[in-house]
Amino acid sequence: GLTVYLNGEFMPLPEARISPLDRGFVFADGVYEVIPAYGGRLLRLGEHLQRLENSLAGIRIDNPLDRPAWTAMLEDLLARNGGGDRSIYLQVTRGPAFPRDHAFPEQPRPTVFAMSTPLRPLDPALRASGVPAISHEDIRWDRCDLKTIALLPAVLMKQLAKERGAFETILVRNGLVLEGAASNVFAVMDGVLVTPPKGPFLLPGITRDLVLELAAEHGFPWREADLPAAALDRADELWVTSSTREIVPVTSLDGRAVGAGRPGPVYARFYGWYQEKLAQLRSG
Ligand code: PLP
Repeated sequence: GLTVYLNGEFMPLPEARISPLDRGFVFADGVYEVIPAYGGRLLRLGEHLQRLENSLAGIRIDNPLDRPAWTAMLEDLLARNGGGDRSIYLQVTRGPAFPRDHAFPEQPRPTVFAMSTPLRPLDPALRASGVPAISHEDIRWDRCDLKTIALLPAVLMKQLAKERGAFETILVRNGLVLEGAASNVFAVMDGVLVTPPKGPFLLPGITRDLVLELAAEHGFPWREADLPAAALDRADELWVTSSTREIVPVTSLDGRAVGAGRPGPVYARFYGWYQEKLAQLRSG
């Protein structure tokens, strides 16, 4: 069984208990992170902890642990669960409070939870064929840069994708592509890799930054620029990126083929470069 971390202690998952008064349960008043580990080593831990810090500050929760304490706890959690290729889910909420009141409690006692589960690679057949995606108006709020646990819009958008036989829903606001329901978006347009610029309407993905770094490292032309949904008709390639799925080629959008309708050559290069990074991490 899984060993999880809750409020300073490690325990078997069935023993982890959270109050129904927890503001995470009552108000979705909390933030989270998902951090991948390869060969027992955390990928971009510093970047994930920085984003956690930003998310906590954005909703005004004091960070309950400092960097060394987060690092030690997460490494311990990985080791207790057997290492290997895993993903860590961690969540911090504003903790239990009574009576129910929207405004913050006087003395918040944050709930800190973390668990680690095996990283399940994307079905190789899907990776080889590429995946279908749909597009939808973005129905979220205007602080999508914070990784909050208030995920109902993402839940509905992912369910819609599933019901339409698609892998992801690409979110569009005022005619601009922003990101996927649980991923960032890249397009290859006229030989240039393009992704929307960071801002309040999308999550600054750690995988996104890594992909841009790979572009810079290998001298591949790239730009952070607005990506009109209408321009995707002309895209040669479309990808979505996330910590657990890495880079995924999207080969149809709303039922129409993207580019040649197959994973493209630029995807193949970046995916190879990404796997090189992971191999480096695994071998220390
Ligand atoms: N955008 C959203 C809305 C997400 O939920 C995620 C992660 O699941 C991402 C982007 C990708 O972020 P990362 O690469 O840090 O996993």
